[in-house]
Parts: sequence; structure tokens; C-alpha cells
Amino acid sequence: MSNYCVIRCDKLTCGKFSYCKSNQKTKKCPYCEHIINLAKAKKHHVQTTGEAKKLVQIFNTRLGEITEPKWYKESKTKMDITKQ
Ligand SMILES: [Zn+2]
Repeated sequence: MSNYCVIRCDKLTCGKFSYCKSNQKTKKCPYCEHIINLAKAKKHHVQTTGEAKKLVQIFNTRLGEITEPKWYKESKTKMDITKQ
């Protein structure tokens, strides 16, 4: 049994990965606030939140390398630093 799943936002302009509990019906994308219908979404099942968080990070980093311009990634990193 898997407790969590990693999902991808199905809004074309977003497409970011996030995770949720596997028994959830919908998930609000933390990036664009689009409501993702989990019945239709492709899910990658994992056991723990730790695993889910790690995968989300890996997937979004890969995504960033593919779709985001360099300046966007840099400004995001700066924002992360100020949060800590
Ligand atoms: Zn989204």
C-alpha cells in the first residue's frame, strides 16, 4: 500500500510536480492554485512524505532545467535563501 503520491499539475502553463496523500480526491497546486483532479492525474506512488518530497524536488529541478530560463532559476534560489 502506498500512502502518498507524486502528481503533476495538469495546467499547461504550470506543469509543476507536488505530492499529496493517496486517498485525496483533489489537490490544489501549490504553484498556480489550480485544482488537480487526482482521479484523472498520473500518480507516482510512494510510501513516505520524505520520499515524496525528494521526488518532487528532483522532478521540479529537471523540469526547471528544461523549461525555465536561467534568470528565473536564479531569482527563485534567492527567494529560497531569504525564507530560511
Ligand atoms: Zn500548477
